[in-house]
Amino acid sequence: MWGGGFGGGGGMFQGGSASANGLPFGGIPTELMDEATKLLATEPEREPSRLRFTQRPSEDERRRLTLTQVVRNYPRYVVSGSALVIVTSLVLQAGPKLTEYAIDHGMLLGHHSVTVIAWCAVIYLALAIMSAFLQRAQVVVTGTLASRVMHDLRIRVFTHFQRLSLDFFTDEKAGVLMSRMTSDIENLQQLLQDGITQFALQGLTMVVITVILFTTNVVLAAWTILLVVPILFAMSIWFHQASERGYLLTRDRIANLLADLSESLYGIRVVTAHNRQARNIINHRHVVGAYRDVNNYTGRVSAIYGPSTNMIGILGQGLLLGIGGHMVLAHQLSIGALIAFFLYLNRFFQPIQLLVQQYSTLQQGRASIIRLRQLLETPPSVDEADDAVVLPPVQGRITFDHVSFGYDPARPVLHDVDLEIAPGESVAFVGPTGAGKSTMAKLATRFYDPTQGRVLIDGVDIRTVTLKSLRRQLGVVPQEAFLFAGSIRTNLRFGDANISDQDIDDAIDVVGLRDLVDRLPQGLDTPVHERGQTLSAGERQLLALARAFLARPRVLILDEATSSLDLHSEIVIERALDRILEGRSAILIAHRLTTAQRADRIVVVERGRVVEIGTPAELLTHDGPYRSMYDAWLASGGRDATRTT
Ligand code: ATP
Repeated sequence: MWGGGFGGGGGMFQGGSASANGLPFGGIPTELMDEATKLLATEPEREPSRLRFTQRPSEDERRRLTLTQVVRNYPRYVVSGSALVIVTSLVLQAGPKLTEYAIDHGMLLGHHSVTVIAWCAVIYLALAIMSAFLQRAQVVVTGTLASRVMHDLRIRVFTHFQRLSLDFFTDEKAGVLMSRMTSDIENLQQLLQDGITQFALQGLTMVVITVILFTTNVVLAAWTILLVVPILFAMSIWFHQASERGYLLTRDRIANLLADLSESLYGIRVVTAHNRQARNIINHRHVVGAYRDVNNYTGRVSAIYGPSTNMIGILGQGLLLGIGGHMVLAHQLSIGALIAFFLYLNRFFQPIQLLVQQYSTLQQGRASIIRLRQLLETPPSVDEADDAVVLPPVQGRITFDHVSFGYDPARPVLHDVDLEIAPGESVAFVGPTGAGKSTMAKLATRFYDPTQGRVLIDGVDIRTVTLKSLRRQLGVVPQEAFLFAGSIRTNLRFGDANISDQDIDDAIDVVGLRDLVDRLPQGLDTPVHERGQTLSAGERQLLALARAFLARPRVLILDEATSSLDLHSEIVIERALDRILEGRSAILIAHRLTTAQRADRIVVVERGRVVEIGTPAELLTHDGPYRSMYDAWLASGGRDATRTT
């Protein structure tokens, strides 16, 4: 059975080795199985999830995404991290002071003292060891904080994706969204883990050093700091503006790069079939080139800023040598203090260098926060009303009450559609391609809202009920049946994890997939590869039907597959449909007149308008659009020309 569609499929699963058949990798190779089992044994158990999904975001989820908002749930880490930063920055700066003391009180003529030198050395060493421990603790604290915050944020963004409406995913490229979840969130992790603490530590170090310099010698401190800081300040403002522009562009271009990559990989079959490889490479070169250009730009900006601040540092040291040396000769400054000044000045520039390096992390983190915030603040276009009520179990009366709709409101796709489907009635939508049949189905499931008019179910406007209660009663079988990576069984349990094995077996019988399941090496537990690519189109459609059947919806909406099915598959699907439609209201977007003929009524849609409604027999009794379609079908031999589109 299943003709050519399944001929190859039978072999696919034999022997359980996909790679032996030259198929894409679909599981753990046997030679790695032992290692994988060991790894799984050491995998920590995840605590049971307490997550709940609600269409309306919680109070916490509605808060504006800022850095403080994301860390506020972890005050312990924030406080201990800050305390560690403060203590570390103080401890780190004790070295030059000890050197000064050892020189002035232990080495200079008249002050020779081995004890002072020894004590200074011991304290120096002790502080060095202490600072190492402090920094270790700080890395642990900020690392843990960053990973927890990122975990929360990943879940928050993913949850938001689940709330958004279909139009969002049509408008946004999957690759761009992927980059929000990967590179943007990772930038933020970098920022929390390293960036902010380094910024705080280095900033604080500069403050501590400035205070020490001024308390050591006001004049020398004033000369060195006041001459150097304004130049640095001016340069930093320039750098800030130039690099901000660069980093925003970087984020855009990396997102484009990922989008192009994911589209090319996803569409690899079409690319190969149309010999588009060369053009794809050229296109990808443009995208990669744009990314390279902006990287070069930010590289050039950093290349100007880094060495310039170095230069200013060296100028400052020259100045210090001249003025400080003069002060030593004039007995206004001790040699120990001058050496300490040198050491401190070096350390004063070190933070600036580090800040320059960390600046890109900060910029990238900031740009990522802005983008993630925009994403989280995008409201779903189809949302629940605040006072949405739970839709009670319905009979299944569907009413289109003068519905008009356009994906772009300026370009209507449906015009004043008025239609009523009775409980238990199956209605086939037929008409040319692009007429608006799928769009009508999308309005009935509330994937979109009408621009004008209302869609009612049992007399209730579907905008006034909760999305969950509405969709629980609707079964949707899309044109491209989507299967997830997992087994056939897990795919059938997709809508409800508690469906019993018995029910699954029954559903397999109802849709006529028993033969397929019996032939598979692991039966229902045979893995389905990503998007069900290892099954034929007909098999995927039947599995989608079984999935809808198991959900036991009151209303079934079926967008018939447009791909050609062999005669046998068509008969199996039609038989399955007869069983599934029993006692249910149904909208069938019929691409074959054989399906339309079996429906209770036929609705002919043309250019977004309902042009004819009636039972199949009625529509055939007079000259109308359906009759012409039917005649054309008969004239071309019936089944060969069964397409209505
Ligand atoms: P087919 O038989 O080919 O499936 P259809 O009758 O189901 O066609 P629809 O998918 O409802 O047609 O499309 C109706 C019109 O809306 C078409 O002109 C189509 O180009 C347009 N359209 C469909 N989806 C979108 C979208 N997401 N954004 C913008 N326009 C869209």
